[in-house]
Amino acid sequence: MAPDQPRPRETGICSRCGQLVAPEGNRCPRCGSPMKVHNKRLPILIGIAGVLALLFVVLLMVRVIQRSDDSDSTTQMEPR
Ligand SMILES: [Zn+2]
Repeated sequence: MAPDQPRPRETGICSRCGQLVAPEGNRCPRCGSPMKVHNKRLPILIGIAGVLALLFVVLLMVRVIQRSDDSDSTTQMEPR
């Protein structure tokens, strides 16, 4: 196992000393500063995307329900 990765997928940069930090190592190997910012950002983005997706689905469902309800009541309310 090589100590330094040749091509890391995602690296964070230590805000303290500017050292590149691998995503697996949550703290800077140079100064030991924890890399919280980079690690915290991804879950938040995923959460936002999830909420947006949920909102979209709910909106779609409400629309479909409203539509079917509307057409249903219209058909029922028709005199003929
Ligand atoms: Zn550092």
